[in-house]
Amino acid sequence: MRARRNSRSLSSSRIFGLAAAILCGALAGAASAETVALRHFTLIDGTGRGPAADQALVITDGRLSWVGPAAKLKLPAGARVEDLRGKYVLPGLIDSHVHLGLVNGIAQDIKYQTPESIEKQLHLYAAYGITSVQTLGTEKDLIFPLRNAERAGRPDMARVFTVGQGVVFKGSYGGVPGLDQSVATPEEARRMVDAQVAKGADAIKLWVDDEFGTLSSRMPPAISSAVIEEARKDGKKSIAHIFYYDNASELTREGINAFAHEVRDRPIDTALLGRMKAKGVWQMAATLSREASFTYTMLPFLDDPFFARGVTPEVLAELRSPERVKKLAAAPNFSKYAPTLRNAMANFAAEAKAGVRYGMGTDSGPSARFPGYFAHWELELMVRAGITPLQAITAATGHNAEFLGARDIGTVQAGKWADLLVLDKSPLADIRNTRTIHEVFVAGHKVPTIWQICTGRSADACGKAE
Ligand SMILES: [Zn+2]
Repeated sequence: MRARRNSRSLSSSRIFGLAAAILCGALAGAASAETVALRHFTLIDGTGRGPAADQALVITDGRLSWVGPAAKLKLPAGARVEDLRGKYVLPGLIDSHVHLGLVNGIAQDIKYQTPESIEKQLHLYAAYGITSVQTLGTEKDLIFPLRNAERAGRPDMARVFTVGQGVVFKGSYGGVPGLDQSVATPEEARRMVDAQVAKGADAIKLWVDDEFGTLSSRMPPAISSAVIEEARKDGKKSIAHIFYYDNASELTREGINAFAHEVRDRPIDTALLGRMKAKGVWQMAATLSREASFTYTMLPFLDDPFFARGVTPEVLAELRSPERVKKLAAAPNFSKYAPTLRNAMANFAAEAKAGVRYGMGTDSGPSARFPGYFAHWELELMVRAGITPLQAITAATGHNAEFLGARDIGTVQAGKWADLLVLDKSPLADIRNTRTIHEVFVAGHKVPTIWQICTGRSADACGKAE
């Protein structure tokens, strides 16, 4: 155990620099105290219940061994106690739609995908309070041993759920260059599904899109229905990338379990809403932050320290460069992004109102779609679209865990992992307060938060936290 702790500290120090290394050293000491009690906080437990004042919890070996009113707390002998008066405790957030290790800065290439680049991003997710992610289909097989190692122990970075490689119809939209994941026939599709399941995929992903009509085809129903049926036979849920209403409608008929994006070509109608509800199709991820990011030639939060701490000065300079702004403005699809975002937001609101189940997911990971930061932006956009902050938090915690079938994360209840996000201000008063991160725990390990790191610079170069 001691050796493993040391190696964790080392890998963290490579990522976060000297200050973080010192911090990790201090935490390694604290971690040897196996029992921690947090008390006098307001609890938002992830089940959808409203806030409960003056609560307490006990963490034993990384799991919640007791949760209840502070007045009823029986302090275990030797427990380290933290008074969190005025703070808010939530389950760690779950991002149900990410891609890992695809970029170096904002340059995207599968060659950058290594265990090291993936772990670096998983630490960054955790720093932002995102304690679990689901990768959706562009990871090499190296993702499986990494996930298995986390699942067998007590990670100090975001937990991974993965579909392995998603299924792409040859010549249509999906996947990433350099990863062989396209199929041409239903038989090939079934074989690919079986292969992903044999490797240990948690679910199956497929893409049905043609990039605003710029590609000659989308995955036909003969293939998508084979993928969905084979996944079901293998005991796995199927998750579809969609863009068009017609495809969402057809996939619902075929028995898809979830959508990884909104219908974005037109407003959704009561007919499709009704069928999604009747068949239990989830809007697993609305990816509003993804759609919003495309509407800017220069992202609007480059001066926000909550963002800037997570990227290098080189990335910030590149995002600000006039050449990049000019290039994005001149892209043939640029004018299509604003109406696409409007459709996505309206359709998400319509689904929530109609009672379609939904989670929270961003599609972070491809170039200029930033791990962690986008999850907080996503929550803000979900609330702006028309749900309450409590609903948005529940989507990102209890509901996402339910969709993943992850029984020991997503809520703050006895028996679950101590994956926790501690905030200075109430996220129910203003959803943007999810950014007031005080502490993050993964499996009971207190990890460096985004306010304690300063990527690519000396520790004091990002200014004072908050
Ligand atoms: Zn995606």
